[in-house]
Amino acid sequence: MMTDPAFSSSQVHAHTADQILKAVNSQADGLSSEQAQQRQQQFGANRLTPPAGESSWLKFFRQFNNVLIYVLIVAAIMSWLLGRWTDGAVIFAVVLINGIFGFIQEGKAEQALASIRSMLRVHTHVLRDGVRQRVDSEVLVPGDIVLLESGDRVPADLRLIEGINLAVQESALTGESFSVQKQVDPVAIETPLAERLCMLYAGTLVTQGRARGVIIAIGDNTEIGKIGDMLRSVEPLTTPLMKQLGELGHVLTKAILALSAITFAFGWFFRHYPIDELFMAVVGLAVAAIPEGLPAVITITLAIGVQRMASHKAIIRRLPAVETLGSVSVICTDKTGTLTRNEMSAQSVQLSNGELEIGGVGYHPQGEITAEQQPLNSAQKVTLQRLATAAILCNDARFDQNTTPWQLHGDPTEGALLILAAKAGLDPAAVQQATSRLAEIPFESSHGYMATLHNAPEDSETPFQLLLKGAPERVLSFCSHIWTPAGPLPLHTDEWQVAIDSFASRGQRVLALAEADSDTNLLPLPGNEVSSPDLSSYPFKLLGLVGIMDPPREEARQAIAQCQQAGIHVIMVTGDHASTAAAIGAQLGLGAPLQILTGTELEQLPELELQTRAAKIDIVARATPAHKLRLVAALQAGKQVVAMTGDGVNDAPALKRADIGVAMGMKGTEAAKEAAGMVLADDNFATLRTAVLEGRTVYDNLRKALVFLLPTNGGQALVMVAAILLGITLPITPVQILWINMVSAITLSLPLVFDKAAANLMQRAPRQNDEALLSNILLFRIAFVSVLLMGLTLILYNWSTLHQADLSRARTVAINSLVGAEMVYLISCRSLLNSTLSLTSWLDNGYALLAIFLLSLMQLALTYFPFMHTLFGTAALDLHDWLIIVASCLLLYLLMEAEKQLTPRLLFRNEK
Ligand code: ADP
Ligand code: MG
Repeated sequence: MMTDPAFSSSQVHAHTADQILKAVNSQADGLSSEQAQQRQQQFGANRLTPPAGESSWLKFFRQFNNVLIYVLIVAAIMSWLLGRWTDGAVIFAVVLINGIFGFIQEGKAEQALASIRSMLRVHTHVLRDGVRQRVDSEVLVPGDIVLLESGDRVPADLRLIEGINLAVQESALTGESFSVQKQVDPVAIETPLAERLCMLYAGTLVTQGRARGVIIAIGDNTEIGKIGDMLRSVEPLTTPLMKQLGELGHVLTKAILALSAITFAFGWFFRHYPIDELFMAVVGLAVAAIPEGLPAVITITLAIGVQRMASHKAIIRRLPAVETLGSVSVICTDKTGTLTRNEMSAQSVQLSNGELEIGGVGYHPQGEITAEQQPLNSAQKVTLQRLATAAILCNDARFDQNTTPWQLHGDPTEGALLILAAKAGLDPAAVQQATSRLAEIPFESSHGYMATLHNAPEDSETPFQLLLKGAPERVLSFCSHIWTPAGPLPLHTDEWQVAIDSFASRGQRVLALAEADSDTNLLPLPGNEVSSPDLSSYPFKLLGLVGIMDPPREEARQAIAQCQQAGIHVIMVTGDHASTAAAIGAQLGLGAPLQILTGTELEQLPELELQTRAAKIDIVARATPAHKLRLVAALQAGKQVVAMTGDGVNDAPALKRADIGVAMGMKGTEAAKEAAGMVLADDNFATLRTAVLEGRTVYDNLRKALVFLLPTNGGQALVMVAAILLGITLPITPVQILWINMVSAITLSLPLVFDKAAANLMQRAPRQNDEALLSNILLFRIAFVSVLLMGLTLILYNWSTLHQADLSRARTVAINSLVGAEMVYLISCRSLLNSTLSLTSWLDNGYALLAIFLLSLMQLALTYFPFMHTLFGTAALDLHDWLIIVASCLLLYLLMEAEKQLTPRLLFRNEK
C-alpha cells in the first residue's frame, strides 16, 4: 500500500512518523479532497471483503435436512414399493413445495437482518484540505490523517503521529484484553505486532486519550484483514426463545413419532387395516402432527420485529435483544441528549463581581449580556473576558462559523461555552489559533473535569497557565482563591455553593472554570479511569460559574408516562448535580415526590439496602459509569429485567451487564455501540419506548403463532388417531392430510406474525422473567381447540356419509370443514385473551384476509378440478354442503370465543 517502494508496510513501525508521511505521499494537514478521491479509485473502499456466504443451493438443500422430510421421503418410496404411484408423487410434491417455501422464508428473514446491519456505519474524524471532517470510515484512503479519541474504533492501520495519553485495547487482533499504552517513537524492525507501540491497527479500540495518525493500509490489506477469518464468522441467527422452542419441537417430534408407532401397532393388531393403508395413515398422522412450520415462523417474527424497530430508528445489534426488550421492567436512561434535546445554551454566569444573564437563543452568536438588567461594568467585563478565554481554550468543540446558525462539531456542553464567549465579544476560532494547547487531561464522567495547559498570557509571572473546567464541586475543591481584576482573593466556598444551588434548581447544568499558574509544561498524567489525576498542588483561582440550560424533549415526557403506565420503572441516570437533575426530572414527570440518590450515596449503600432503594428511586445524580454498573447489578438482584443506556467508552461494562444495553447512535462511542444490544439512531428516549412496544409485540405474535399452529396440527392428527382407534374408514385420507398440512402451512401460519401491537399492550405489566411462553389458559386452549377441530371434522364427515353415500364427497366435506375451522381459528387467535367479535379483528390484518382468500382458492381447486379429484380422491360439493360447512365453522368460531371468555373465569381464576 506504500507509494514509496523503499518501504514495505511491514516495516512502518521502524521508521519515524515523518518518514512514513513522506512515504505515503501525505502531509501533516492531511490529503486534499482531490488526492483522496483519486486514491479511493486506486485502492477501493476501506472495508473487509464479506465472507462468501452459504451458497443458495446449499441453503436450498438444507431445507430438506429435517426429520419430517426424512419420514416423508421414506413414505414416498414405500408407497411406490407398494404400487401407490399417485400417493408417492403427491408426497414428493409436498416435500418440494415445503422446501421451496422454507427457502424463500429464510431468504426474506436474512435479507431483513442484513439490511439492518448496514444501517450501523462507523464514522471517523479525518483531516482533509486542512479541515477536520467526520466521514464514513469506508471512504478512508492510505495517507489520510485520522484523529481518534477514547471510545473510537481504529478504522484502518495507522502510523501514530501524535498520541496524548493514549491507550488502546487490541484484543481483536492479539487476544490481549488489557489496554496497551502507545507512543510515537519507532521500534526495532523485528518487534512483533503486539509490541509495535507506534502503530494503531484496524479493529482495535481507543480506551483512553487521543491520537493522530496517518493511514498506511486499508480494507483487506490491514492486519485484521489478513487474518480476517475470525471476524467474518457471522453471528448465528438464534435467541434463547428460539432455542427453547427448537427443543420443544424436538421433544414434540419424538413424542409424535412414538405415538404414531403405537397407533400403527394398535391398528395392526386390533383393527386389521391393510398394511399399506395403515402405513400411509400413520405417516399422514405424523406429518400432520409435527409443527414443522414453527422455526420459520419464529425467525420471521423476529426479523419483522427487527425491521419494524429499525424503521423507528432503534437498531438491533443482537437478535436476542428483540426478545428481552419485551420483558424490560426497568429502564435506566441517560438524561443529557436522551431525555433532553442536547441543545445547550448558557443562561447564567456567576462571577466574583456579580451574576449575569445571557440573552439569545440556540447556536446564534448574538445575545445581550446583562447584570441585573444593567449593562456590565468594566470590572465585570474584564472578568467575563477572562472566563470566556478559559472557556474557549479548555474546550474541544469547534463551530463551523460559515453557516447561520453556526454548526457545532463536538460536545454541546462545550459548544454552549463557545457561544457564550462569542456573545462576550471574543472570536473563538481566533483565540484558539493564537494560543496552542501544550497538554491536557480530557473530560471523563468518572473524574468530572477537563484541564489544559497553555503558554501563559503576557502579564503572568510563570511561563505556563493551567485551565480547568468541570463540575463545580470538583473544580472548587482545587481552588483556594477567586480571580478578580485586582488580584486573587480568598475563596469562600459557602457563598459559591449558594450560586451553584440556585443555578441547579432552575434545571441548569453548572460548570465551573478556574486557572492556575504553572512552572512546568507537564500535566500529571491521569492514571486509569478509577483514580483521577492529582491537580491539588496547583494554586487554582476560580473564574466563575456557568449555568447551561438543556430543555427536556417534549416526546420524552409522554414516553415516560407511557412506560410508567406499562409498569416499567424509569430511572434517570445523570452526571449532573442533584438539583439540576431534580428540576429536569420534575418537568419530565418522573415520580412525585422524586426519590434521588447521588452516585456517592449509591456507592456507599450496602448491597441489600441498595437493592431495596433501587426499586424506588427516580434519579441517580452525579453518577459515573461505575455507579451505573452497580445500579444494574442491584436491580438485577431484585429480579428486574434492566435496559441501560450509555454512550461513553466507560459505559461498556454496564451496557454489557444490563439485560439489554442501549447505545446512542449519534453521541455514542463505537465502544458503547459494540457493547450494546441495541442502538438508538436518534438518541431519543421515545425511540426506546417504541422499541419496548415492538418487543412486546414480537413476543405476543410469537405466542399467537404458537397457539395457532399447535392445535391446527393437533386437530389434523387427532382425526387420524380417532379414526384408527375407532376402526372406521378414514374420514380424510393420508394424501389429503398432507394437502391440508401443506396449504395451511404456506398460508395461515404467517399472517399473525404481521399483527400490529395490541391496543392495550402498554397498559400491561411487563412479562415476568420466568413466565412460561404458554400459560395454563393457553395450554388448555390448545387441547380444547385440537379436540374441537377433530370433533367438527368427524361430525360433518358422518353427516355427509349418512346423507349421500358417496365416500369421496364425504371426505371433501371433511377436508373443507377442517380447513374452514382453521381459518376462523386464525381470526380468533388475533387476540389470545380478548374477544375478536368485531369488524376490525376480522378486517384490519390484510395478510390474514389474503391468506384466507388464497386458501379458499386452493380449496375450490381441490374440490372442483377433475385432476385434483384424480390426485387426491376428492369430489365436487353442492351449495347445501357449503352452507352446512360455513355455518358449522361460524358456530365453531363462537365456541372458541366463548371458551376464551369462560376458561379464565372458571378454570384458572388465579392466573392473569
Ligand atoms: P451526563 O451523563 O448527564 O452527560 P456527564 O458525566 O457528562 O453527565 O457530566 C457531569 C458533569 O460534568 C456536568 O454536570 C458538568 O458539570 C461536567 N461536564 C460535562 N461535560 C463537560 C466537559 N466537556 N468538560 C468539563 N466538564 C464537563
Ligand atoms: Mg455527558
